[in-house]
Amino acid sequence: CGVVGIWGAPGAAGLAALGLHALQHRGQEAAGIVSHDESRFYQHKGLGLVGDVFGDPRNIAQLPGDCAIGHNRYATTGATLLRNVQPLFADFEFGGLAVAHNGNLTNAQTLRQALVKRGCIFQSTTDTEVFVHLIAISLYATVRERLIDAAKQVKGAYSVVCLDQDSLIGLRDPLGVRPLVLGKLAEGGWMLASETCALEIVGAEFVRDVEPGELVVIDKNGVTSCRPFKNTASRFCVFEYIYFSRPDSQVEGRSVYQARKQIGVELAKESPVPADVVVPVPDSGVPSAMGYAAESKLPFEMGIIRNHYVGRTFIEPTDQIRHLGVRMKHSANHSVLAGKRVVLVDDSIVRGTTSRKIVDMVRAAGATEVHMRISSPPTKHPCFYGIDTPEESKLLAATHSVEEMAQVIGVDSLAFISFDGLYRALNHVNRSEAAHRYCDACFTGDYPVELVDREGRLIA
Ligand code: 5GP
Ligand code: SF4
Ligand code: MG
Repeated sequence: CGVVGIWGAPGAAGLAALGLHALQHRGQEAAGIVSHDESRFYQHKGLGLVGDVFGDPRNIAQLPGDCAIGHNRYATTGATLLRNVQPLFADFEFGGLAVAHNGNLTNAQTLRQALVKRGCIFQSTTDTEVFVHLIAISLYATVRERLIDAAKQVKGAYSVVCLDQDSLIGLRDPLGVRPLVLGKLAEGGWMLASETCALEIVGAEFVRDVEPGELVVIDKNGVTSCRPFKNTASRFCVFEYIYFSRPDSQVEGRSVYQARKQIGVELAKESPVPADVVVPVPDSGVPSAMGYAAESKLPFEMGIIRNHYVGRTFIEPTDQIRHLGVRMKHSANHSVLAGKRVVLVDDSIVRGTTSRKIVDMVRAAGATEVHMRISSPPTKHPCFYGIDTPEESKLLAATHSVEEMAQVIGVDSLAFISFDGLYRALNHVNRSEAAHRYCDACFTGDYPVELVDREGRLIA
């Protein structure tokens, strides 16, 4: 998901909508904004892209005020229904509160059962609503204290923005699995966003990352910060670098684009192959293919053309549509591929269905050899922290060796970046030096946050 927050800027909802548009890659199922003026809260939500929901200026006009938060939904829990669309808004004894969350709680079901027993009535099936109920029943007085109280009970990944009548609040989980940044608007006012690309679109200046385990409160006195949790080493999601973040964003002070390109350089050093041309699977494979081509001194060509009017295929719900989506999305550029030995570069292999179709297409266009190079290690485990990977049995790498995967996909050779190569590209010596700083559980199975619900199900 993508989240934004705007504080102290006229037309806040319009700025939030622009921020959400820049974060569209983080979620395409639904979008919503809650705004606040001196007197009350306003909300508008809908299914679809930001442009579908907020393209009509009347929808922004009904969201007055100088403060707003917004959310792009990428379903990892709960069905795609309007009542699951965030921000969630609730009226409490202390006033209204809107909450938007990126990430996934690993003890949401366990907490939800306990809350339902206590009489809480859930309106949605999202894990985010657990937060709202924990805030509601907290015995603390202020919103800030109640939010901290709730955060101490949840486990998992959460970058949260909240809006009450007096403040905009941002909170990152103690491990900082998902990103969250703070920016300053040119005309005065503050902004929170999942990625720096959302600051860029409205001309806001990047101030800094909200730090793992940090709570920032923005109100009429400016920005204050506190650290409610015990100090732990952070574990940022390495897949944000590989795939999820937009390449023009900066995370932890590093350009995502440069990181991806450098992974391509390392990949070429580790797994060279005699070939005529390097071709990315667009868009996600482009920067690493550029790095691969530069390092291997092979020409870089757009041998596959992407139709940009189709969403990311994996966000479509059914397998049938996912297959269809692939054909709708990519086509072969015969002039580049015919008679060539091709190195295809992509960011990841999940189910293998996209890759297989693309390889077939490249061969049908006349490629004499197809060698696939992947800028992540094999995806062997599901993510429980906010990325919608399928269950383990559907992950090709969970049940196949690299040689077997090459056969299934139909390539002459297949290689993945090594763990050490990946972390070298991120300026570390090797994985063991970097492992305590990142989550890479979908590749290693080393889950940094306890999987409470899952363990519970196993016992039951
Ligand atoms: P596959 O060959 O595994 O079907 O798809 C690999 C390609 O699709 C990659 O380019 C990757 O960016 C994207 N992709 C497909 N399915 C998923 C998914 O379930 N999760 C993620 N993170 N990426 C996917
Ligand atoms: Fe990121 Fe993978 Fe960890 Fe999920 S399991 S947070 S995708 S590194
Ligand atoms: Mg891709």
